Amino acid sequence: MQSQLNLKETKIINSSEQDNLSTSKGPFRTEIVWRNVLIFVLLHIFALLGLFHFDRRMFYFSFVYGWFGSYGISAGAHRLWCHRSYKANRKLEYILLFLNTIAVQNSVIEWVRDHRVHHKFSDTDADPHNSQRGFFFSHMGWLLCKKHPDVKKFGAKIDMSDLTSDWLLRFQHKYYVPLAILISFALPIFVSMKFFSTSFKTAFFMTSFRYLLTLHITWMINSVSHIGNWKPYDKNIEPSDSKLFGTLTFGEGWHNFHHVFPWDYKVSELPLYRYNVTIPFIDFFAWLGWATDLKVASEDMIRKRVLRTGDGSHPYSIEAAKNKQIFNEINNNLENDVKRGNEVYWGLNDEDIPEEDRQEIEIWCKKHD
Ligand SMILES: [Zn+2]
Ligand SMILES: [Zn+2]
Repeated sequence: MQSQLNLKETKIINSSEQDNLSTSKGPFRTEIVWRNVLIFVLLHIFALLGLFHFDRRMFYFSFVYGWFGSYGISAGAHRLWCHRSYKANRKLEYILLFLNTIAVQNSVIEWVRDHRVHHKFSDTDADPHNSQRGFFFSHMGWLLCKKHPDVKKFGAKIDMSDLTSDWLLRFQHKYYVPLAILISFALPIFVSMKFFSTSFKTAFFMTSFRYLLTLHITWMINSVSHIGNWKPYDKNIEPSDSKLFGTLTFGEGWHNFHHVFPWDYKVSELPLYRYNVTIPFIDFFAWLGWATDLKVASEDMIRKRVLRTGDGSHPYSIEAAKNKQIFNEINNNLENDVKRGNEVYWGLNDEDIPEEDRQEIEIWCKKHD
């Protein structure tokens, strides 16, 4: 609880709203949704049975299907629709929406609302998977109980008009259940039975295993990435970077960087594809001309932030600590900058983003109309 209170003191969420955020000490009591508990228990049982009903060709197919489904979350729901870190043409949006439906993590509209609230009110009761309520809660427990009233209250203030005005996303939202059953389950089961001659049981259990595995990988970003202690960009927040989880989660586990620069399409500072497989995916479509306006934090912007709030582990911090002259120069340059708060915003469309931040963002592959 102590860390939660400290955390709140360091953030400028929104001056008028911050005081209204309640803490977990309030009268709120967790209410379990038993229907969801049953669904997830059954899913775990089916997925485990998948280990005993193994078919090699179905395994390869599931791996590829699950891999591309994960891009529907990382490149689609997360980097495109939630943070607007790049623009996609309609053809790419169709592809991403199909891939997104493979992953079955709620419709894009619902996913994005939860995630924008998570960024804006991170690790408070208004955060749907508030890591202050424990590892299990932030991992999957939040899906097994009713939302804290603050999630709805503050979530209602998040602007979602860019998504709700798009008929394509409204279509996915409206027909989400039949679409998810069809694309994530019926289609791969049909492929397995038709082309690999597996039984229905084998196809179903292996499909359940694929689905559950991708869920746990995504959930790790909300749980594991919020308890680490590598915080090169901002030591005052819970999200942390991790090479292992950064790589495992399709490049989404560079979470300290991501919470500081949520609109950066690379979700990391890395030029290296091997630790962040979503970058080459987006870069490929940028090369095709289907993805444009890729937003990137400039080197100067990163350096200033690292020196202002980083934990000292970043090469910029180490360099400054070693060299007194550089340190002093930077300190002088930072004089005005230091006085700033650490504004929290979920993306460029958030009105709380300071104009100076907006000005410094680099935009790659600009769209020329
Ligand atoms: Zn987070
Ligand atoms: Zn995010």
